[in-house]
Formats: sequence, structure tokens, C-alpha cells
Amino acid sequence: MTEASAAETPFKSGFVALLGRPNAGKSTLINALLGRKLSIISAKPQTTRHKVLGLLNGKGFQACLLDTPGWLDKAKDALQGALLLSARIAARDDADILVLVAEPHMPPPAELESLRRLLPPGKPLLLALNKIDLFTDPALLESVKAAYAAALSPVGIHAISALMMQGVAELQAAIVGLLPPSPAYYGAESLSDRWERFFACELVREAAFGLYREEVPHACAVEIDEFKDAPGRSTIRAIVYVETPGQKGIVIGPGGRTVRELTERSRQAIAGFLGRKVELELKVKVRSGWRKDPSALKAFGYSP
Ligand code: GDP
Ligand code: MG
Repeated sequence: MTEASAAETPFKSGFVALLGRPNAGKSTLINALLGRKLSIISAKPQTTRHKVLGLLNGKGFQACLLDTPGWLDKAKDALQGALLLSARIAARDDADILVLVAEPHMPPPAELESLRRLLPPGKPLLLALNKIDLFTDPALLESVKAAYAAALSPVGIHAISALMMQGVAELQAAIVGLLPPSPAYYGAESLSDRWERFFACELVREAAFGLYREEVPHACAVEIDEFKDAPGRSTIRAIVYVETPGQKGIVIGPGGRTVRELTERSRQAIAGFLGRKVELELKVKVRSGWRKDPSALKAFGYSP
């Protein structure tokens, strides 16, 4: 663990919530800040279901980054409701600093109004206008900044490209500058155990997004049944829950071909992430209507 050894400059540590609409680039930004693939990224909105904790450790500071699901206006079902709730809780209770990630378009007045209502007052807010690589009109950018500044009074506005790593170092410096004095919250190893299981599940889900269409990947929840470590290799058994027997058939595929592909893609991703050999076994089970079942949402870690 890093220590607050220099008494004259106290160690700084705190929680940073990344908030914003689905697809704004929150997961990409968290990965850019941490320099490691930590959070599931997909072109489909709403794949970040968990509150992901990533640690940014540096000399004299530790920033604990919370990735939140997209901040939806209205919940359509219990899963969306749980997502919305956990984003609000992250912003209200857990965060010392809020980073609002938005695409650099002119926000409609109603959007600014709902942001003003949703963002908890009294916490420093940084605005990250992301995907600047796709945006070419500097005059418009200035008016977008002015609109956000007038409505939300952020302490800083950063035009960035999380994907191209533009402006990310400056945003990181601004975050570190806002951290409150506090000892580090986490030691170097304390989270890795939980993380490894958690990211193993996330990587299986990410592979499912690459393999299946429409509702099927959204209907998949992954649970670790067994996670055994030996030197240089891990043996993992996981269960992929779907909502209907029809989805189970699709996930397994003809003669088990698709689930073998899912297993192989997931295995490679997990091995890459863990940096060691991985044996992976996936079982597919039906848990009917789990996305509408509060106890299942809790069991899979989707609701607080
Ligand atoms: P989230 O839903 O807010 O977590 O968004 P993601 O991080 O999953 O990103 C959504 C999509 O936007 C993905 O296809 C990303 O590759 C893309 N994206 C994120 N940041 C940038 C950026 O700076 N520039 C461009 N061009 N695309 C980006
Ligand atoms: Mg995301």
C-alpha cells in the first residue's frame, strides 16, 4: 500500500463518479484513465450494469473511480430501475467528485434542467465533453460549453477524446486536484480477488454481446460457480443465466457450437485480462424473468 509518509502534504483519496447518458463514453473514459481494460464497452447502450470500482494510484493520491450505468430518464423495467437507482446512489452517497460525460452537442434545455435536478448539490462537478475527435465546429463547441457552464456551474470543462486519449491526462490532473485529504481507501491487493471474479463475469457478458443479437445478450447474467487458482493458471466454472428456454437454445446453438465459441472467446479475454492460463467451463441455465425479479437482480449484483 502507498503510505501518507510526508506529513506536510497529506495523502489524498476519494471516490469519483462518472455519470452520463448511455453511450456517452463513460466506460471508454474509465479505461483511458486507468490504462487497463476494466469495464465492458459496447456499441450497444446499457451494457454497464454494475458499479465498477477502478483504482487510480499515484504519488500521494488514490482516486477510486465508479463507473455507473447510463443515467436514464425513465426506467422501463425493473432492471433499468435498478440501474438508475445505483447511478443515483453512486452520485449521492459514494462520490466526492462528479464527472459528467457528455457528447459535445448543444443540450436541450429540458436535459439541462433534469441534470440540475439529478446532480447532487455541493459536490465538485467536472464536465468532460467527449468524442471531440468527431466534432469539428469550434464556435459551436464554445456555445455548448457556455450552456453547460450557465446551467450546472462545473468547476472545470474538458473537451476530450477518450478513444484517442486526447485531453485525458489534463482531466486526470483536474480529478486529482479535487481529491480530499484522506488515507488511501484500498490496499494494492485488497480488491483483486473480488475484481477477478467480477471481470470474469463481465468478459463473458462482453463476449455474449459480440455473439448474439437483439435481446439475447441483454438477457444473459453470469455467475461464477467456482474460481480456483493454481500458480500460472485459473480454473473457472460459470453459469450463464437466460430468461427463456428459447434463449437457452440460441445461446447453446446447434450441437453446442455457439456456446463453445462463447466459451473460447470468453476464455481468451479472461486469460488476457488475468495474464495467466485459464480453463473455462460455461453452463447455460434458465432463470425465468430474472430481469424483473428483484431477488435475482440482487443476487447477480445489479441492485444495491
Ligand atoms: P458508456 O455507455 O457511456 O459507458 O459508453 P462506452 O464507453 O461503452 O462507449 C460507447 C461508444 O462510444 C463505443 O462505441 C465507444 O468506442 C465510443 N466512444 C467512446 N469514446 C469515444 C471518443 O472519444 N471518440 C469516438 N469517436 N468514440 C468514442
Ligand atoms: Mg458503459
